[in-house]
Amino acid sequence: MRLVLLGPPGAGKGTQAELLSDKLGVPHISTGNLFRANISQQTPLGREAQKYIDAGNLVPSDVTNRMVESRIAEPDAANGFVLDGYPRTVDQAVALEKMLQQAGQPLDAVVSFEVADDVVVERMLSRGRGDDTEEVIRNRMHVYREETAPLLQHYDGLVASVDGVGEVEEVNNRVMRALGR
Ligand code: ADP
Repeated sequence: MRLVLLGPPGAGKGTQAELLSDKLGVPHISTGNLFRANISQQTPLGREAQKYIDAGNLVPSDVTNRMVESRIAEPDAANGFVLDGYPRTVDQAVALEKMLQQAGQPLDAVVSFEVADDVVVERMLSRGRGDDTEEVIRNRMHVYREETAPLLQHYDGLVASVDGVGEVEEVNNRVMRALGR
């Protein structure tokens, strides 16, 4: 199963992606985690990405697309994946479509997590990651509204909307139901 998770920062995509990955038997691919691993290993890609991430801006799409393309070409993703944090712009969605078209493997579904702004801000502040300061969070929410939310239109017809507020298991059950599983 080829799945994309959409939703504002702090919507719980990472947590749900882990559970879905276990249940569906496909890898969880998080661009945020891939960037953070590159940053902690001080790779050239990590050094390039860090300044954008620290400011809550998007890493340029050419860098991000290349990173995702090589990750989904790995053997463990041959039967699918749960994409978390990608695509984040319409141009990334178009790039992903090209990658998948080449392999003859279209997306099966896009899950959209619905969570109110004040709830996600509260969750992010309590998580305390380096890019979770109030100012950076505010910028990431702005970037989400401007650049990522239009993907809901782009994926119209493929989107399953799920209420993202509640216990982790409860939200996961909603996603599985929305996927018909
Ligand atoms: P969150 O969903 O809480 O914002 P992520 O871990 O998904 O956190 O992303 C952290 C940061 O990594 C983003 O603010 C952005 O700078 C960068 N990033 C992640 N995914 C992408 C992407 N698809 N395109 C560009 N930048 C990205």
